[in-house]
Amino acid sequence: LVSRDNHPERSTVRVGGVPIGPGTVTLIAGPCAVETPQQTLEAAEMAKAAGATLLRGGAYKPRTSPYAFQGLGEAGLRILADVREQTGLPVVTEVVDAHDVELVASYADMLQVGTRNAQNFALLQAVGGVGKPVMLKRGMNATIEEWLMAAEYIAQRGNLDIVLCERGIRTFETATRNTLDVSAVPVAQRLSHLPVIVDPSHSGGRRDLVLPLTRAAIAVGADGVIIDVHPNPEQALCDGPQALVDDDLRELARVMREFPPLV
Ligand code: PEP
Repeated sequence: LVSRDNHPERSTVRVGGVPIGPGTVTLIAGPCAVETPQQTLEAAEMAKAAGATLLRGGAYKPRTSPYAFQGLGEAGLRILADVREQTGLPVVTEVVDAHDVELVASYADMLQVGTRNAQNFALLQAVGGVGKPVMLKRGMNATIEEWLMAAEYIAQRGNLDIVLCERGIRTFETATRNTLDVSAVPVAQRLSHLPVIVDPSHSGGRRDLVLPLTRAAIAVGADGVIIDVHPNPEQALCDGPQALVDDDLRELARVMREFPPLV
């Protein structure tokens, strides 16, 4: 279903009317985690001012440590819905548990499946059956074929509104959190008709790498990027070291506008 063999044209997925696919490079931005109404609104306003057309933000955070901030849950989803009301930006947010899929889908415009759940087949089937577009991160240990097979689990349930997101893979390198596999973008686009975007924030884990990795993503033909921003990264409850502030995001958006999308 996701293979390009039977579907030679590359697909466009629409999220609350915003296209992700060939001919566009969509900028998705927002906080890593929803913390407060004010922090989320400020991050969303930064995103919108820079030209982002979709808002990201996690209400359910799959953290490595059980002692780290786990997200606000449904209260966070309500904040995202309020901020969508105030800014007009459709919302992309992660779901980590198959039991929460309907709840998250009742607030979100697009459901995100994160790297840690990228082969959680019960979750993939659940998001496939709920009638909302899905962003599927690549598992940090998954081959491209395993990633596409994960997408197939979603598609099999009748949902072809899937966007693939390369977010770095595990390698021997320790200077970055994960190694952005730029070759995965054109490879996945050749094997599958689904749009492929890149997450430079979570792959590098470092603010100074977000712009160079974004350039790399666009240069290899990514259909969009998803970027963490925070009004006050030093106070962030999640992944502050990779969050861009206002000026960084404007610069990134300016650089993005300079590159015409590769179709
Ligand atoms: C995220 O986007 O909030 C996130 C946790 O990303 P990943 O699953 O790629 O680590």
